[in-house]
Amino acid sequence: MLKQKIILIGNGMAGIRTLEEIIKKDPHKFEITVFGEEPHPNYNRILLSSVLQGDASIESIVLNSYEWYAEHQIELFTGDPVVKVDTSVQTVTSQNGISRSYDHLIFATGSNPFMLPLPGADKEGVIAFRNIQDCETMIDTAKHYKKAAVIGGGLLGLEAARGLLNLNMEVEVIHIADYLMERQLDDQAGKMLKEELEKQGMTFRLNAHTERLTGKKRVDGVRFKDGSQLDADLVVMAVGIKPNVSLAKDSGLEVNRAIVVNDYMQTSVENVYAVGECAEHAGVVYGLVAPLYEQGKALAEHVCADQPLSKPGYQGSIVYTQLKVSGVDVFSAGRFQDGEHTKSIRVHDEFEGIFKKVVVENNKVIGAVLFGDTSDSPRLLTMMRNEQDISKMSKVAILPSENESDERESVVVAMADSETICGCNGVTKGDIVKAINDQGLTTVDQVKACTNASRSCGGCKPLVAELLTHATGEEASNQKEPICGCTDLSHEEVTAEIKDKGLNYVREVMNVLGWSTENGCSKCRPALNYYLGLNQPIEYKDDSTSKFVNERLHANIQNDGTFSVVPRMYGGVTNPDQLRKIADVADKYNVPLLKVTGGQRIDLLGIAKEDLPKVWTDLGMRSGYAYGKSIRTVKTCVGESFCRFGTQDSIGLGVRIEKKYEGLSTPHKVKMAVSACPRNCAESGIKDVGIVGVEGAWEIYVGGNGGVDLRGGDLFAKVATDQEVIDFISSFLQFYREDARYLERTSHWVERVGLDHIKKVLADDETRTQLIERVELALTGQQDPWNEVLESKDKQATLYEKKEVEVIN
Ligand SMILES: Cc1cc2nc3c(=O)[nH]c(=O)nc-3n(C[C@H](O)[C@H](O)[C@H](O)COP(=O)(O)OP(=O)(O)OC[C@H]3O[C@@H](n4cnc5c(N)ncnc54)[C@H](O)[C@@H]3O)c2cc1C
Ligand code: SF4
Repeated sequence: MLKQKIILIGNGMAGIRTLEEIIKKDPHKFEITVFGEEPHPNYNRILLSSVLQGDASIESIVLNSYEWYAEHQIELFTGDPVVKVDTSVQTVTSQNGISRSYDHLIFATGSNPFMLPLPGADKEGVIAFRNIQDCETMIDTAKHYKKAAVIGGGLLGLEAARGLLNLNMEVEVIHIADYLMERQLDDQAGKMLKEELEKQGMTFRLNAHTERLTGKKRVDGVRFKDGSQLDADLVVMAVGIKPNVSLAKDSGLEVNRAIVVNDYMQTSVENVYAVGECAEHAGVVYGLVAPLYEQGKALAEHVCADQPLSKPGYQGSIVYTQLKVSGVDVFSAGRFQDGEHTKSIRVHDEFEGIFKKVVVENNKVIGAVLFGDTSDSPRLLTMMRNEQDISKMSKVAILPSENESDERESVVVAMADSETICGCNGVTKGDIVKAINDQGLTTVDQVKACTNASRSCGGCKPLVAELLTHATGEEASNQKEPICGCTDLSHEEVTAEIKDKGLNYVREVMNVLGWSTENGCSKCRPALNYYLGLNQPIEYKDDSTSKFVNERLHANIQNDGTFSVVPRMYGGVTNPDQLRKIADVADKYNVPLLKVTGGQRIDLLGIAKEDLPKVWTDLGMRSGYAYGKSIRTVKTCVGESFCRFGTQDSIGLGVRIEKKYEGLSTPHKVKMAVSACPRNCAESGIKDVGIVGVEGAWEIYVGGNGGVDLRGGDLFAKVATDQEVIDFISSFLQFYREDARYLERTSHWVERVGLDHIKKVLADDETRTQLIERVELALTGQQDPWNEVLESKDKQATLYEKKEVEVIN
């Protein structure tokens, strides 16, 4: 039977969660296409604040990797917004001219940040805080400028301000009201928040009316209506959002403040739905994920149902917010301002900096503000959701944290099974306990993978950990770390099982070792592929479907979907012939950027995927593995050949090392360097293996890293000859290959297992000899991956040819 077609416009949090719900219900019912304006897979927008504050990396906030789309056969177009919808013939067209027809169309276009229409708002250095690009701009600006102004003292503005402080900028928050977060807090809590943030180094200008932004091309300040002025090299506007509805309006959908939907998220046009911040339900537009996920569930149920649904759809949500600034606990929910018919319980402890307010109407909790101690928040939320009658309850029963006795019960233990622990994803205590018991979960990550709890803002992580501790009777944090949520087994256990049981294929490992998922995930599959290859260096046939996209295609994907090509230049040495070839290829394929890399190689950037095999043919050079978890480059200084200081042949040794180990797979990328004297022009001190020439000898450094976690290498040994250097590298690399966990850099491995331990292992002659033998075996039969592709018409057709229907990686 032909599958029905779903098109999703908007690759954000609400839209993809809706697809997850649909796939969970029926993985095979629909053929799904997603168009996203941003050039990324689906990521956790909420955690942009954590990225800015330095607590997460951009890679770590990806919710669904490209592999996830491929695994579910979802056709994905990133960086390509839909520009036209024709509801009469049920088709959509993207900016790049891609056209698709649909049976069901979902709008999940989110919101645009609201930019105050101030004179000067179009200047360079004036930005919003909404997406990865904004986040990157702030991080980059902080490297060159000092002063930042954030307009807006709400949740987003304060999180941005905290991030900019962490980036060493001076930050002033400009706010129009007379206290902070006035939409979430009452004046008392707002003032306490200001004091707390001032202690952290933030400065504030309240009751401030901005008149214009000054500067020539780039902003240099903010002028206020009272004539005062503030210097600023960066202005972040965080004053609100407006639903992104222009495409919906142009498509003839009924739009009020946002796209008008019913309880099943159906719009005014047949077969067209809207979900997320772009949707308006019962007159309300939501700007937090919890309601959007509930909407996604209702939409999924409707679209998957074969019969009209008898149960009610989405009924609206109670919203709550938490500020994600470390050291400042703030929670607010429902209607928290005092009204004519409301009464409230208030606790204000100025010594401890705690403020609590629970607003009650008709014997029901209708809103709450907690500052300084937010442990009562799950209980209050549940009371609000259940409209619980509190007339007979004591203050301590409503706010258990006010129990003064020493035997205060743990918050999670006191919670009923029906109470929600993860508000964003609507996961109850009962759901989590059941998953822990039924599936023997032992870590927070496993609970996350299994139940979705703590997958969004992460605010409930401490509660999940506490629950694990209670359910398993052990400290959750002391548990061993499994490879991923698909298994309980650690890297070491899996490797041992592969050896013991003689396993040969990725799928076999998953079957035999009882994986909880059918196909594994993007974390475990590449690791298994590596461990299998390590165990059987000659026989194992690399499973390219279990590799990251760069390694599968043997080229580095760039942010615009094109690829970069770095041919091998041993030791960083080249010649006129190679340079001519590179120049010719650059001309022939209109390569927009030629760049010398940090590892002294030439990078041809901006190559289309389908051109990769042709470019490799024309270059006629070997792959530089610039994309691989393998030996990358050996950087060299000029050394004795030309330098006045060089007493050693650094180029000769570097070329020899690179030729010997090229293509060897490793747990993570490995970079090496050879400098001929301690001036260290090849930067040997920050390489995985760095060689430095000294009088009549070579010093060998290991575990250096010039990347995010800057680390100087440790001096490991001093040897007299080139051959001793090679022997050392062989044994060190093989021990690293066998002992480190997949995706562990040498710097992390050296720190985890200790340099002394590595020294001890390599000091044993027999062990060292065996390690050298095993690396020699792994090095036999290495094939250049580009050449392999060029020799296989099949690979070229399946991996590189442009097709009508394709998953864009
Ligand atoms: C820094 C930050 C911190 C936040 N913190 C929290 C928090 O702690 N808790 C909380 O609950 N919420 C928080 N939020 C809000 C939350 O992220 C949003 O409510 C949620 O992401 C909205 O989901 P959505 O899918 O509706 O929109 P989005 O996630 O914005 O997704 C919409 C996507 O559609 C794309 N798009 C638009 N038009 C088109 C088109 N024509 N074609 C193709 N694609 C298109 C957009 O580029 C965008 O990627 C935060 C938001 C930010 C920015
Ligand atoms: S490291 Fe020493 S030998 Fe090598 S180029 Fe620099 S100064 Fe010359």
